[in-house]
This record gives sequence, C-alpha cells and structure tokens, in this order.
Amino acid sequence: MSVKKLRSYIDGRWTETSAGQSRDVVNPATGEVIATVPLADSAEVDAAVSAAATAFPAWRRTPPEDRIQPLFKLKMLLEEHIDEIGKIITQENGKTFAEAKAEMRRAIENVEVACGIPMMMQGYNLEDVARGIDETMIRQPLGVVAAITPFNFPGMIPFWFLPYAIATGNTFILKPSERVPLTMEYVFGLLEKTGLPNGVVSLVNGAKTAVDALIDHPKVRAVSFVGSTAVARYIYARAGQNGKRCQCQGGAKNHVVILPDADMKTATQIISDSAFGCAGQRCLAVSIAVTVGEAQKNFRDSIANAATNLKVGYGLDPDVQMGPVITRESQARVESLIAAGEKEGAKVLLDGRNAKIAGYESGSFVKPTILDDVPASSELADTEIFGPVLSLIHADNLDDALRFLERSAYGNQASLFTSSGAAARRFRYEAPAGNIGINIGVAAPMAYFPFSGWKNSFFGDLHGQGRDSVEFYTDKKVVIERWGEEHSRKF
Ligand code: NAD
Repeated sequence: MSVKKLRSYIDGRWTETSAGQSRDVVNPATGEVIATVPLADSAEVDAAVSAAATAFPAWRRTPPEDRIQPLFKLKMLLEEHIDEIGKIITQENGKTFAEAKAEMRRAIENVEVACGIPMMMQGYNLEDVARGIDETMIRQPLGVVAAITPFNFPGMIPFWFLPYAIATGNTFILKPSERVPLTMEYVFGLLEKTGLPNGVVSLVNGAKTAVDALIDHPKVRAVSFVGSTAVARYIYARAGQNGKRCQCQGGAKNHVVILPDADMKTATQIISDSAFGCAGQRCLAVSIAVTVGEAQKNFRDSIANAATNLKVGYGLDPDVQMGPVITRESQARVESLIAAGEKEGAKVLLDGRNAKIAGYESGSFVKPTILDDVPASSELADTEIFGPVLSLIHADNLDDALRFLERSAYGNQASLFTSSGAAARRFRYEAPAGNIGINIGVAAPMAYFPFSGWKNSFFGDLHGQGRDSVEFYTDKKVVIERWGEEHSRKF
C-alpha cells in the first residue's frame, strides 16, 4: 500500500500543512506504515479558527431548517460509503470490520438526531409574567467550537459533537487522534459534498501543540474532549482557565457484577464481547467482573472457555473476532500490567501475552487474558488497562460488590447480571457510575441520550449527544418585553 501524506481541511480547502513535524500512521495488524500525518502548529490552528470565525455570522443567520439540509445529505453519504469507512477504521485502528461498521451506525444515529434541531433548539416563553409583560428564553449558538478526539473510535466519537455543533449554528473544528487520522480525512471528503459553506467545519491534524493552540485561542468558545483522564483533566483545567465551556470525557475502569441467579450462558457471551470486543479498547469495556457467591465457579469456567475460543487476527479477515491493540507500545504496556498484576497476587487463568498470529508477525497483538483472584486492594484493580484483559474478583454479596465499586476512581459504566428485579433496581439506584447496564455488557447510550460518565471519567456537567449537546452548544438568552401602556408597579 502506498504511503499517503495527509492534509488539513481549512476554509473549504485541503491545505498542505506549514508545520515541519509529522508522524507515521501504522496499521496495527500488519505493522505497515499507511500514511504520514503532519502535526499542525499554532499558525495552522489560527488559520482554521479564523476561517471558522469568518464563517460564523452567516451560518448563525442560516435558518435551522436550512442548516440541517447538509446533515441529511451527510447521512445518505455515510450510509452509501459505510463499507469504505469501515475498512479505513480497521486499517488504522485494528478493530474488526464488523466493529468498525457498528461504530459508524452510532455516528449516523447522531447525525439523524441532530436533524431534529429545529425542535430541539427551541426555547420557551410565558406571557404576563407581570401585567402586560412577556418573558422568552431563546437559544443562540456560541461561535467557534472545537473537539479533540481519541484513537479508539475514529469514526463515531467526532460525531458525538460535529452534527450538534453545526446544526445549532456554530462553526466547528475537529482535531482527531494523530494515531487514526485517515477516517476523518475520508469523512471530511464526504462533508465537502454536502454543500456546507466554507469554514463551517474544519479538520486540523496534530498532537499536543495543536491542542494547546485550540484551547488557548481566544476565539474558541467551547471545547469537547474525549481521551485519557490525565489529558481530560489538563484540558478541563487549562481551557476552563481560559474561560471556555468544556466537556472532557476521560478514562475508565468498568465493573460488571454477576449474581448467582444470572443466566450464565447469556451473561458469559455478553461479558466476553464487552471485555474483549475492540481488543478491550472501549471506554465502556468491562474490565473487572465481580462474581457474587456461587456465581464464581460457573462464571470463571465459562468465561475462560469463551475467551479461549475467540479468533484473533487482522480485522479485515472475515472470521476474525478480535484485532490487535493500537501500537507496539500499547502491547508492551498491557503485557507489563498483566505481569504487575501477577506480582500483586493475581493468578493468570488465560495468558494472552506474546501472541503470535500467523501472517501478521509485525502486528501488535495481545490475546484475551483473564486474571483470577485479583486482590481488591491491588493497584491493578484501579488501573485502566485498555486492552483485552478481564480481572475476576469475588464478593460474598451485593453489598460487598457495591462497596468495591464505590472505591473506584472512575464512573463510566457499571453493569449487573441477574434475574432479580429487586437486585436490578437496587443496583440502578446505588451503583456509582453514569451509564448503567442491567444484563447489558456495553451500556452505550443511544444518540438521543447523554453519554454520561461520572467521577474521573468526566469533567464538566453537560455531556455529549442528545439534548445535553444542544445545551452545551448554545447560550441562553432571556428577553423580557413590555409593549402595552400597562404598569402594574407603583413608583
Ligand atoms: P489520549 O488522551 O492519549 O489522546 C486523546 C486526544 O488528546 C488525542 O487527540 C491526542 O492528540 C490528544 N493529546 C494526547 N496527549 C495530549 C497532551 N499531553 N496535551 C494535549 N493533548 C493531548 O487518549 P487515547 O489514547 O487516544 O484514547 C484512549 C483513552 O480515551 C482511554 O483512556 C479511554 O478510556 C478514553 N476514552 C474515553 C471515552 C469516554 O467516553 N469517557 C471514550 C473513548 C475513549
């Protein structure tokens, strides 16, 4: 495959970057370099922000009904090209082609929801708040807004933001992960065909320098971030200090609790998919399974069996069920965390280290790994691994399991497997996480619900997707009007 040199998309044009720095984009299954991505400097970011600021006044005045027409076109184009996009995602990220297409379905769903902006963006009003005085709340767009996204969902995560940002009348700049920039390059090629005016959407490739330039730029009004907790915290603090509205989604360490009355066969299939799907590189992947009482033995045997049978390889090969992790460095990190867990007393029930995949010897593969008897107090129990590693912990009862969840620094997702409505209701009520699954392995909210992380998994108050997005991307303005001669107040 030839090595493609990427460009940025600024003011409706593909532009060669002025920055000297670049990095390779590597197919994690084959180890091949498939592109080089330039890393934008602050001048390039400034050009994108200026174009977005110039485009804003006219875009803001475009009626919402007209602003969503390009999104209808985009939906059709995404549907039409979903196979091509899926293939690119697999090539640069490593997940299977089916997983890649599934993430694009959620991306498309967000476009569909944003097409409801003429209804969703409406304010409210009340006549006669005092005699002859009416009060109205209207929503107005902010101006230039930006999103910074991670490597693990190259196609879906930008769509948690882009459709809502532009449908509400803002102009939008995306800085995708420099490890997976090809998907958005393709998608912006489609956006170009939708008739959006120049500068309404821009794509800037880069890394920390580009991010810092965006979060420091005085004309950027709001920043959305998805990535690791350390960077989420940094961006929330720095962009917040600069007076920007921020929503920063961070890392995760998700728990599933399995009660003895769960349907073990179904639970095993679902939890196996949650822990090992996308090679464990999902912010909603189950990382710790807490078995309660008698569930321990049955689940341990069945999950080990399910994980052993997963076919690992290149995601474009049709029978492959799990791909590589993103880089060699990530592989080394995951393997060293497994070793650290062992040192802390965990037993390696299934060892996915040193995986050799015939024909893909240069790939960064870790096979499904299960660590049993992980001490609840161990460092591993609190560390995000972001690889195909499931830790097993045992609890005597649901009280103990919930206490263990309480201690976690993260709160992205918690799930329960049970056939008891009372236990499910209690878990929903008490589990300390923003996305709850009951007999669900990956509790990923549909596009019309907020993606609701808690604790160190989210910094901010308004989440991505759905109604929260409309709130995030608009300022409220309250207008109080008197047109009659009536005065109710005596001076
Ligand atoms: P990352 O934090 O390394 O990178 C995310 C983005 O931040 C990238 O665009 C990158 O260029 C930029 N970045 C990286 N370091 C930076 C720095 N020092 N200063 C400024 N910008 C910087 O994350 P990743 O490895 O791409 O993604 C995996 C992480 O994302 C995991 O922790 C995962 O849990 C998390 N994640 C969270 C959610 C969620 O909804 N909470 C969703 C997906 C992924």
